[in-house]
Amino acid sequence: MTRIGFIGVGTMGLPMAKNLVAKGFAVTAFDTNPDAVKAAAAAGARAAGSTAEAVAGADLVITMLPSSPHVEAVYGGDGGVLAAAARGTLCVDMSTIDPAVSRTVAADAAERGLRFIDAPVSGGVPRATDGTLAIMVGGARADFDEALPALSAMGANVIYVGPVGSGEVAKLCNNLIAGVAAVAVSEAFRIAEGFGVDPAVVTQVIAKSSGNTWLMEHMHPVPGLVAKAASSAGYQPGFMTDLMCKDLGLAVDAARALRVPVFAAPAAQQVYRLASSHGLGRKDFTSVYTFLKPSAGQAPV
Ligand code: NAD
Repeated sequence: MTRIGFIGVGTMGLPMAKNLVAKGFAVTAFDTNPDAVKAAAAAGARAAGSTAEAVAGADLVITMLPSSPHVEAVYGGDGGVLAAAARGTLCVDMSTIDPAVSRTVAADAAERGLRFIDAPVSGGVPRATDGTLAIMVGGARADFDEALPALSAMGANVIYVGPVGSGEVAKLCNNLIAGVAAVAVSEAFRIAEGFGVDPAVVTQVIAKSSGNTWLMEHMHPVPGLVAKAASSAGYQPGFMTDLMCKDLGLAVDAARALRVPVFAAPAAQQVYRLASSHGLGRKDFTSVYTFLKPSAGQAPV
């Protein structure tokens, strides 16, 4: 039986770890939040008190952490994965981070005789729960093949993208589009509402028109139109505004490094940043709709 050390059992990591347990993998979980470890233990994982304890004896290490600095911290240092895991261990980072950081951690791992691939995910909590995430993988093809049974326990579409870091590149491209789309859909529906047009009917129309997006169909920012959307449950995440802000920042940074002109991504990022500074940072990113409410001021002349 494959033994998995799973670090970061938060919003996404917990349901992903649950699916691994349900499909027969022996999972040992660690998280700096003790409640998250307790929840993983309640789902059948073994609880660990540290990263080093979680990866001791593991054949496969999986990390699902907020952002690049967390990944650097968990892999590096004395009690980190690279120091504590046995030589030859395959490490799979499923967090959304800077592709350059994936490459650095992979190089550090190789120096210590470990292997590292990046495998970020898309689909949010509902698909993490159902085990139907899209998973995009960067790394050596043989490592991808080795990780595939565990990845298939968590995802329905597991796609090999290319060398290490490539999974993150695909993920940044996806979230650039999703982040901009949530702002665009929110703006559009505020206008529809302003005219008193039924948002349910507008949704029906757009679903059959050129403005249709996966985001509107599955994560509609307007409450009550899509039962499974975070908006219909008080914008409980889901995918937090602060994480979307981070991902758009990664996309903008990548564009700057590549000297690609970008307009929509930085504009959307600033909307999320402002929404965050108004208390929506830990709400679902589609709560940006509530932030884009009409101004109470005078109509422009
Ligand atoms: P989260 O904050 O809910 O979970 C991250 C977990 O990591 C937390 O429980 C936290 O306590 C833990 N953690 C942080 N530092 C740690 C450390 N040093 N050691 C051990 N544990 C540590 O975030 P999430 O929503 O689960 O997202 C995780 C990653 O997945 C992010 O990169 C995010 O961008 C990406 N992602 C999230 C979604 C989503 O819908 N939430 C969808 C796709 C991708």
